[in-house]
Amino acid sequence: MTVLNPVTKTTEFGGPIGSLILIIFLPLVTLFLFLACNEIYLMEGFNLNLQLLKDAFNIYVYNDLNNLLFDYQSWKYYLYWFISLALLDVYIPGNEKFGIKLRDGSKLKYNINGLQLVSLLLIIICSRFYLLGFNLPELNFLYDNFLNLMFTTWEFSILLSFFVYFTSFIPLRNKNGNGNGNGNGNGNGNYERILSINGNSKNILFDWFIGRELNPRIGDWDIKLFCELRPGLLLWFLLNLSCLQRQFQKIGYITNSMILVNLLQFIYIIDGVLNEEGCLTMVDITTDGFGFMLAFGDLCWVPFCYCLQARYLTLKEINLTNFEMLIIILLMIIGFYIFKASNNEKNNFRSGKLSNLKSIKTERGTKLLIEGWWGISQHINYFGDMIIALSWCLPTKFNTILTYFYVIYFTSLLIHRQIRDDEKCFKKYGNSWIEYKKKVPYKIIPYVY
Ligand code: NDP
Repeated sequence: MTVLNPVTKTTEFGGPIGSLILIIFLPLVTLFLFLACNEIYLMEGFNLNLQLLKDAFNIYVYNDLNNLLFDYQSWKYYLYWFISLALLDVYIPGNEKFGIKLRDGSKLKYNINGLQLVSLLLIIICSRFYLLGFNLPELNFLYDNFLNLMFTTWEFSILLSFFVYFTSFIPLRNKNGNGNGNGNGNGNGNYERILSINGNSKNILFDWFIGRELNPRIGDWDIKLFCELRPGLLLWFLLNLSCLQRQFQKIGYITNSMILVNLLQFIYIIDGVLNEEGCLTMVDITTDGFGFMLAFGDLCWVPFCYCLQARYLTLKEINLTNFEMLIIILLMIIGFYIFKASNNEKNNFRSGKLSNLKSIKTERGTKLLIEGWWGISQHINYFGDMIIALSWCLPTKFNTILTYFYVIYFTSLLIHRQIRDDEKCFKKYGNSWIEYKKKVPYKIIPYVY
């Protein structure tokens, strides 16, 4: 009998030591980015040095540490935000879709209602702007309480990771009381949860960090997909808007660079939220567990680090020429086209369409595309994402490396992801994967890498 939840033998991210470093280091980076992009640095022309960083630390963190560690207001509003979105996620009617086949042969059900949710959110925001102009109190609150909210989401993700870690040990009750028909029931109507292939090392710290359970759920509500697509992504959009509003309040108009950053990132964010079904085949959903890494990444890192360009533009008034705007928009269009077309092609292929495209049959019986986008490089979709990332940084011009943090970090993340995926696919497909790599030699960027 095959084991449902094999023990993880090789740990990623440097195992427990590596994960400990990341648990400490990642929140420090978010703090650093805040301290490195504020009025103090503006006065110094964004000339980063240790003394300025120390000054910023003393002003923003040291003087306010008690309040930052438990800020009642931020917690209250963040809980409103998280719980309202969760309720809307559950109760807004949508289309019922199923995820990929899991190790026990079952498929999870998802309520796909991103379009309805986004429409509702946009109606609320547009009518609030119509009624109040660029003076929405909720956006002022976001801008003025950036650091407190960042601390709140960091703490919240720690608590959420504990919750999903502990619940992963509680067997699920089968409504029919007959196990799931695959031998992992225990005869009492209870059955084992499906754990992540990477998160069952039995080392508490590592499993907590990487995520023990594959798809933690409360009833049919999927915590991982929700966190991936809702509270963090939409908060990023609102943080960007809060910067736009603050710029208007400060200088009486909105620069074209600010409009561009808001617009380009809005397209990406909304596409992410609307593309729920496509996400069901993403590695995060199909393979990774849900632990501190994803919880922190989704809820704190994404909104508070990714809005850096908009925050910078609130501090520094930058106007772009028409030519500069054109280049940036073109880059975004090219990147977005590659990103969407390649992801769609893989999803369509995986769901049985596009059988006219050349592919190789693997030893497992499934196929790997070697024509179309997936014949150009092994992760051409990552290349599209990198171009998009660059187009978001360019509106800040070239005054400081700080605003290029996103493209630098994201490129390293995608290279690391490609290495992980290469290992995963080699384990899964063996010699067929080697054959695939011979036919499609470039990893991400055609003719370069
Ligand atoms: P991919 O979409 O590249 O998926 C990789 C998987 O696709 C492999 O594990 C394999 O899975 C399958 N596959 C690989 N090669 C082929 C082929 N030739 N033919 C058919 N199937 C193949 O990776 P991700 O899930 O990491 O990324 C999805 C998207 O999300 C990307 O566009 C990425 O840029 C984006 N992303 C964005 C992030 C952000 O913060 N904005 C963060 C991370 C990702 P199998 O065979 O097992 O089905």
